[in-house]
Amino acid sequence: MGLRVFNTLSRLVEPFEPLDPAGKKVGLYCCGPTVHDFAHIGNFRTFVFADIVRRHLAFRGFDVCHVMNITDVEDKIIRRVNESAKTLAEFTDEHEQAFLTDLEALGCLMPDERPHATKFIGPIINLIKKLKENGIAYHANDGSVYFSIEKYREAGNRYGQLLNLNLEAMRPGERVSSDEYEKESIADFALWKARVPEDGEVFWGSPWGEGRPGWHIECSAMSMELLGPSFDLHLGGEDLVFPHHEDEIAQSEGACLQCDGLRFVKYWMHGAHLLVEGKKMSKSLGNFFTLRDLLAKGSTGREVRYLMISAHYRETFNFTLDNLAGAKTALGRIDECTTKLRELALGQAAEPATDSPLVTHFTEAMDDDLNVSAAWAAVFDWVRDTNRKLAANELDTPAAATELANWEHINSVLGIESVEEEVPAEIVALAEERQAARKAKDFARSDQIRDELAAQGWTIEDTLKGPRVKRT
Ligand code: AMP
Ligand code: ZN
Repeated sequence: MGLRVFNTLSRLVEPFEPLDPAGKKVGLYCCGPTVHDFAHIGNFRTFVFADIVRRHLAFRGFDVCHVMNITDVEDKIIRRVNESAKTLAEFTDEHEQAFLTDLEALGCLMPDERPHATKFIGPIINLIKKLKENGIAYHANDGSVYFSIEKYREAGNRYGQLLNLNLEAMRPGERVSSDEYEKESIADFALWKARVPEDGEVFWGSPWGEGRPGWHIECSAMSMELLGPSFDLHLGGEDLVFPHHEDEIAQSEGACLQCDGLRFVKYWMHGAHLLVEGKKMSKSLGNFFTLRDLLAKGSTGREVRYLMISAHYRETFNFTLDNLAGAKTALGRIDECTTKLRELALGQAAEPATDSPLVTHFTEAMDDDLNVSAAWAAVFDWVRDTNRKLAANELDTPAAATELANWEHINSVLGIESVEEEVPAEIVALAEERQAARKAKDFARSDQIRDELAAQGWTIEDTLKGPRVKRT
């Protein structure tokens, strides 16, 4: 049947057909972090969701370009920079590095492009110029440039595509300079914010004087610059539907850069929020977790990832420390099964089987708007069945290698890293002896040991942290 996804634009599950006439290339944009603090596990639920979408598209043969922006200029960041003795770049670099480390610990693939708002000031200014030329942006007395929702509507556009809005109940004309989205009113919004004393040294020159871009325009400019004026998929957390994504549509379609009949974005997908112990995460309630908090409590990135992808992305997910313990148990069952298969497969290479129930059921489930519950059911049915076959000695080496290949194939979507096998003491001793031989430049002996290890099914990899022994 092919992949189907829920499109926030139509509020329907639709077949996924990319814009590329060859049906191969897919442009995916997910709003990235605002790098002002450590991201919390709620933020990471959204990024893990984007990672799963990207991985499943690749699994289905699409050639994905995954873009995740880094918001490195915005009200909160400026406030924090001014409180610290750091420059904007020093402050945001530090937080971005921490974010990427956490993203990696959660088994997420690095997005292909990570554009920074501060490196796209030129395209942002050009986009605002275009909106001014089209008569839907205006330079106000306070020096800022605003988007006029009224003019946009008068030009025949609809404001309120992702969400049914009651425009009459809104406050037209009110100008909101804050880009902290929880505070943003439904009204004209700033595209370019005139420099104010609180901005300190954070400003750029523009045709409208010194200032900085608004948050919404950053995403319109960066996504269209990297993926073209029309692209396939735009993702984010549900809180971004309005106003951020609605404003992205207004700005991008208001600039009229799309070809006839094409939208700015074909499919919008939004991930539901993560709650902690049934409540909204908040520092004052003491239920605000960063990944680092959980790692310090002894959890692993793969356990947190498992938990995040155990619920459907459109369902609010309740995070508890108890269900994190459940994730450990579930992963333990998978690890036990794959470890036994690995022992039996003796490093033999194999292709996934075309008729594997695991692969077929998993693919059907994920194609159905990422139905992870059914996908996990397929995984655990397979674990049960494989354990039974292992216990009954029904699997020989090639069969075990094929089962392992089936698992690895679907795990390219789940992204659950395999556990490191414990290395027996005699193998460690041999590896250490080889290291000593190499130090003494006795290469004949070191080669001999490497061959001995290979004969027993172990390889030595020279890594940055020194030699590492692993199963061949
Ligand atoms: P921010 O860094 O605040 O711009 O947020 C980055 C991403 O995290 C956005 O896509 C938000 O929608 C998302 N997000 C924020 N809070 C949560 C939450 N509790 N659960 C899931 N996603 C969230
Ligand atoms: Zn965005």
